[in-house]
Amino acid sequence: MSTGVETLPFTNPANGEQFGDVPMASSEEIGTAVEEMRQAFEIWRRKPVKERVRVMRKLQELIIDSVDLISEAINLDTGKSRQDGMIEVFIVVDRLNQYCRRAPKWLARKRVSPGLYFFNRHYTEPIPFGVVAVISPWNYPFDLMLSPMFSALLAGNTVVVKPSEVAGYTGVILERLVQGVPELAPFVRILHGDGRVGAELVDKGPDFIFLTGSTTTGRKVAKVAAASMIPYAFELGGKDPMIVLEDADIEAAARWGTWGSFYNTGQTCQAVERVYVVESVYDSFVQESIKRTQEFLPGYSPELYNYNHLGPLTFERQKQIIEDHMQDALDKGARVLIGGEIDGLFMAPTLVVDVDHTMKLMQDETFGPIMPIMKVKDEDEAIRLANDSHFGLSASIWSRDHARAQRVAEQLDVGSVNINDTVAHYAVPMLPFGGRKLSGGARVHGENEITQFTQNRSYSIGSPPLPFDIATVLRQPGHYRLGVGVMHLAFGVTPQQRIRPIAEELQRFRSHKLSSQRMRSQGLRAKKNAPRSKSVMAAAILGAMAAVFFGLWRGRN
Ligand code: NAD
Repeated sequence: MSTGVETLPFTNPANGEQFGDVPMASSEEIGTAVEEMRQAFEIWRRKPVKERVRVMRKLQELIIDSVDLISEAINLDTGKSRQDGMIEVFIVVDRLNQYCRRAPKWLARKRVSPGLYFFNRHYTEPIPFGVVAVISPWNYPFDLMLSPMFSALLAGNTVVVKPSEVAGYTGVILERLVQGVPELAPFVRILHGDGRVGAELVDKGPDFIFLTGSTTTGRKVAKVAAASMIPYAFELGGKDPMIVLEDADIEAAARWGTWGSFYNTGQTCQAVERVYVVESVYDSFVQESIKRTQEFLPGYSPELYNYNHLGPLTFERQKQIIEDHMQDALDKGARVLIGGEIDGLFMAPTLVVDVDHTMKLMQDETFGPIMPIMKVKDEDEAIRLANDSHFGLSASIWSRDHARAQRVAEQLDVGSVNINDTVAHYAVPMLPFGGRKLSGGARVHGENEITQFTQNRSYSIGSPPLPFDIATVLRQPGHYRLGVGVMHLAFGVTPQQRIRPIAEELQRFRSHKLSSQRMRSQGLRAKKNAPRSKSVMAAAILGAMAAVFFGLWRGRN
């Protein structure tokens, strides 16, 4: 008898076997989760950062103890090897470890320079948004749920996680881990399900949305978020170029370039998706890449120890995209040098040449174990083609001359550049990672990963306004000239601009004195208050000048 509850099946892509399922979140459960997390936020936000860190350390401990269980879930959900699953856990724990050490400093209240407003003290502190929705993809299912989750939590938010429907079992394991830390469990909810669940979560109006996924989904979520003015950060697709210059170590470029294309069966956002090789080294690079490609062993094993380099594609949709891109390229004249075969969801590592930018294979995200290689005349052409993309996530450059590679790197419209390696820059916990253009604008890793889940609240603290405080002077009617004088003194660009008002005042004072003397000598009386008001102005400017210098001195100390 049907219970009316929709379930999410878990399917092992290596053999097509269903190994379990989980009920999908209903509309009511989604609303309840957001509501509960909004209430729980009032408790979690008040916990000192050190207390949040203490709770996260318990999660860290549990993750390390559970590494085999987690790598098993990743292996079953995605077909990647247990070792690749372990690598995900490794980089997550490395990052969490760094963040726990540094979060108290990153999230501390900071004193800011007062500028001219030096009679008060000024502070700013990062405060959490509230309920953060974390919506995750399947390609690194553990990392891309866990990292935004613990970063948002450390920052003081409560979190609702929507794992990918393609990696549902890993989502269940995350739920178990969260429940395994009783001090954490009340502040996180996991909603299992597909895009419908993600869309309803966005509709329920969380206070911040963090999405890792395709550009297509990013556009949909952005539309809904914009209508309710919900802030968001997105990590989206990529089409990362690799550039091989004539002075590169060709053997290393071929070895790690193919690895960057084929690792995780090419299903990595910063995978090498297109290669530009300067013509003088093109042939040797291609030959070396063929040799390296032959060494990759596709296959699946649930064992801890096995020798496969890449597993299957993780689900059917990927196969359709790859077949479409390959057919389009072949129709337009591309040649497969090695690989190309697909058996079930297993695809042989593939090298393609004679490619150009009319092909989807060089323009759209393919997300498969394919390395298209294009011959270019020189460095300039490589840079131009690398930038000819809607995406801008990462890039890699191969050259023995680091200064030259750095110069090339500076001309690429991407968020990260890896010189003489591929993909591995993602693992560095403190190195900001994120894209430009359609790759999304979020930056993860390092301080920014935590502070992006906060807004600043600022404080200006002091006794009631003093009469000679610049803030009082500026709001007092009749101080136009005085304000202009202080502006010159404090912000003038040249020494002349700075002292101009004083010079003008002195000049005015002197000419007034002369005319008074003249009037006296003619037996007339000068207008009563005029000279005094001028000297008051000059004194005020000199006073302001002293105050400015005092302020600048205080600001520095
Ligand atoms: P996807 O966009 O299909 O799905 C991502 C998540 O969004 C899933 O949980 C899905 O259920 C949910 N979703 C789908 N429709 C939704 C909607 N209308 N509203 C709210 N949520 C919705 O992406 P995917 O296929 O799971 O992941 C692969 C993509 O992720 C690739 O494009 C890859 O480049 C990208 N990615 C980017 C990074 C990065 O750091 N830039 C990292 C990993 C993956």
